[in-house]
Amino acid sequence: MWSCAMCEREYVVFTKVCPDCRKIKNFMNCYSRERVLEIVENVLSRTEDKQDNKIKDEVKKVIEEKQSQYDLRNYKKKNQSV
Ligand SMILES: [Zn+2]
Repeated sequence: MWSCAMCEREYVVFTKVCPDCRKIKNFMNCYSRERVLEIVENVLSRTEDKQDNKIKDEVKKVIEEKQSQYDLRNYKKKNQSV
């Protein structure tokens, strides 16, 4: 049994990181390490009430990005079938 390599708080047996830190690593795999660090720094460097606004702002950006990718995919699909 060892301490989690990331948070050094939880104990792990067969892995290097605990389940919570695994989630963070998965986000890094999906969105890049730089993007995750940027969001964490941008959000946590604010007071708690302003953190909520920043979180909404960051989530909004991701949703808009996904929506535009989805729209583009549908647009291409629509034009291919005609
Ligand atoms: Zn951990």
